[in-house]
Amino acid sequence: MIPTVQEPKKLTEFPMDACCFCRAGTRSWTKIAARPLGEQVACCQGCAKTHKVAEVPSKDEWFKAERDRDRERRRRAGVRV
Ligand SMILES: [Zn+2]
Repeated sequence: MIPTVQEPKKLTEFPMDACCFCRAGTRSWTKIAARPLGEQVACCQGCAKTHKVAEVPSKDEWFKAERDRDRERRRRAGVRV
């Protein structure tokens, strides 16, 4: 069980973030006491229930994974990267 917090309402006009485990769009973020605020990652409610804090990627890892997937998606769509 990973502690999470919902993104504040005033930010809901922004696109949802991809859960660090299943990549579903979510407005839920981790709230891990051992991490500073800027190091939390998006994590949906479902994954928060089934994963452990130790399994949560660091923000750098999460960003990198998202970037790689983004690049791969564009490559498949035939866009030059
Ligand atoms: Zn998830």
